[in-house]
Amino acid sequence: MASCGGGVGACHQSHCQRSEEDGGAEEEAREMASVSVDSCAAGGGDLVRCPKCGEEAAAKGGPRVLNGMCPSCFHAHLFGKFKLAVTTNAMISPTDKVLVAFSGGPASRVALQFIHEMQCKSLESWDASKSQALPVFSVGVVFIDESIISVNPSNDINKTIEEIRPIVSPLSPPHKDLHVATIENICSMNCNDGKTKLKKLLDSVPDATGKEDLLEYLRMHLLQKIALDNGYNKLVLGSCTSTLACHVISATAKGQGYSLPADVQYVDARWEVPVVLPLHDCVTEELKMLCHLDGMETLQLLKKPSNSINSLISSFISHLRDENPSRERTIVRTAEKLKPFGFNKFVEDKYHEFLPSRLRCKFQNTSNSESALAEVFCPLCGSPLSEPELQSVSDIQEKSHTAVEVFTAHCCESCSFQILPKEPVSLQQFYSILPQPMTRRVTGSTLDHSMLRELIGDCLLVDDYDNDGT
Ligand SMILES: [Zn+2]
Ligand SMILES: [Zn+2]
Repeated sequence: MASCGGGVGACHQSHCQRSEEDGGAEEEAREMASVSVDSCAAGGGDLVRCPKCGEEAAAKGGPRVLNGMCPSCFHAHLFGKFKLAVTTNAMISPTDKVLVAFSGGPASRVALQFIHEMQCKSLESWDASKSQALPVFSVGVVFIDESIISVNPSNDINKTIEEIRPIVSPLSPPHKDLHVATIENICSMNCNDGKTKLKKLLDSVPDATGKEDLLEYLRMHLLQKIALDNGYNKLVLGSCTSTLACHVISATAKGQGYSLPADVQYVDARWEVPVVLPLHDCVTEELKMLCHLDGMETLQLLKKPSNSINSLISSFISHLRDENPSRERTIVRTAEKLKPFGFNKFVEDKYHEFLPSRLRCKFQNTSNSESALAEVFCPLCGSPLSEPELQSVSDIQEKSHTAVEVFTAHCCESCSFQILPKEPVSLQQFYSILPQPMTRRVTGSTLDHSMLRELIGDCLLVDDYDNDGT
């Protein structure tokens, strides 16, 4: 895997092939290895031609990235990866209303840019087509202000909007709605009430990792709420290979092996508004490089120093990357070999008729028995529950119980260990301030529980062997 990329300068087409086999991985490894090599040699004095377009770059100081490509070919190369992920996984249909979660970082900035470019291209072909039968998907942008938990808490949401608007407004036409919310909005729409509740909630979780994870789950619930309230039907996240690699290792360390395969796919339709990851195959270094070359503005996000499992693993991964740039990709590819869940594909609906027939297989057939399998999810993190976890849900149903007990039984083992307070009094308080979207998930799933248990019980016996040892 660690083969040097020096001798393969002309072999740059590998991204078009996306081989699932290890041959593809090796190719990518060579490609990745040369990202740093060529960018380091950027200042070289020799005239080098871009292997893609044959253009001569400036002899001195001309930026050279990825196998000696010029900046515009590099842009096209990354856009190609993005578009391939979108089309092969049927992520966006012409009738979709897509919400892009923009955090201010390079990954979501690139996601936003590429979605905009795709939308422009669709609009062009719509204008050109005589029948104009295919509509063009619409796009909105959401930014969640988390300054309440940052190093320098700012109280001015208007200031945040002022920073975001200049980034989003130039991306038109087509027009994109901008939604800005603060993270405390998930607890209450009233600003002060929300702040108090969020602080109380986070304070009741003593563990640094649990606190960070809870915040991440709250963010996801808020994104879902905003998407639902505004009629969006897809949520685009900027998660890339690097973030997924960190997640693979940290989820393993936290004992979330059973649900891990659900998180590393291109599509995650377990949420009410399905989540898609079009940057699945790009690494952070590439995305940062693109922002730099194309002059895309990003926001400086000040993160609090932390000693959580997440931070440890993120620095571990960055050491691995320094050693060998292809490691992140290797980690994600390895995790991808685990069997995904049924909700990692879209369910076939009326929109599929807009798609070319070769893509229709990317949708689940609803008559398929596998897709009829309903999952029970942890109300905090959204992980599908494993069989032993379902057993404890089933046990609690048979006894008399309080709302807190039912809720606790529905939480996955990892959340129970890392997030839920151990003391009954603190647990009761924690439950009482949890945002409704989280508590509601349990009440919803309890209603037809016995039927659900039967349904899942049968199927999980078979599934369990495949997923054992994850
Ligand atoms: Zn070029
Ligand atoms: Zn959980």
